[in-house]
This record gives sequence, structure tokens and C-alpha cells, in this order.
Amino acid sequence: MDCIFCKIASGTIPAKLLFESDAVIAFADIHPQAPTHALVVPRRHIVSMDQAVETDRALFGQLWWTVAELARTLGLAGGYRTVINTGPDGGQTVEHLHVHLLGGRPMHWPPG
Ligand code: 5GP
Ligand code: ZN
Repeated sequence: MDCIFCKIASGTIPAKLLFESDAVIAFADIHPQAPTHALVVPRRHIVSMDQAVETDRALFGQLWWTVAELARTLGLAGGYRTVINTGPDGGQTVEHLHVHLLGGRPMHWPPG
């Protein structure tokens, strides 16, 4: 399958890995939008939130727990932002579900 995040998960293409488990990986975004910009990604190829199925419920728990633990590990004590872009209107560019974890600077609201 020609999916860049599946290739990172399998080690076929390199990334700066921040966390790995049997179900979830996290790595640094190649074009960081904040001093800390990690992507937390299920190993399973789920295209987007819109494509998730009932059997993904437990995986979602692992995904969000990983985000919380990783934010602590990365020292984001001042806070952080998590973002999931879904589909064209959501601004999704990579069609493999991922959580953006952004921190290290103040974030603004509303988003663009
Ligand atoms: P999206 O726009 O789909 O929510 O986010 C995709 C993210 O993946 C972008 O922030 C982009 O910089 C990042 N990205 C795209 N290709 C690569 C890559 O090959 N390696 C890494 N580490 N990040 C990537
Ligand atoms: Zn994939």
C-alpha cells in the first residue's frame, strides 16, 4: 500500500520516532508548526476519523492515552494542542489517521 505513515510504521522510510508500541507509533512531523510537533498514529491503516469502525474503539483509547503520556514525556507542562484533520474540509493531507500534538508556544483560537 502506498501510504507514507504505513511505511514509517514498518520502518521502510525513516522518521524521528518518539514512541512505539504494538498498536501506536509517534514521530516528529517533518514540517513542524511549533517547537514540539509530534504525530501520533495507529499502526493499522485507518484512512480518517470518518472511516473508523466499531472495532477501533479500543485502539482509540490507546491512541489518546499515548498522546497524554507523550505530552508529559516531552515536558509540555505549559499545555499543548491536539488536532485531527479529517477529509478535504478538515485540511487532511495524509490519508492515514493521525493526531497532531503541538506545543512549546502559545496557540491561538479560532484556528484558520
Ligand atoms: P494532515 O494535513 O494530514 O493533518 O497532516 C499531515 C502531516 O504529515 C503534516 O503536518 C506533514 O508535515 C506531515 N508529513 C507529511 N509527510 C511526512 C513524512 O514523510 N514524514 C513526517 N515525519 N511527516 C510528514
Ligand atoms: Zn497507512
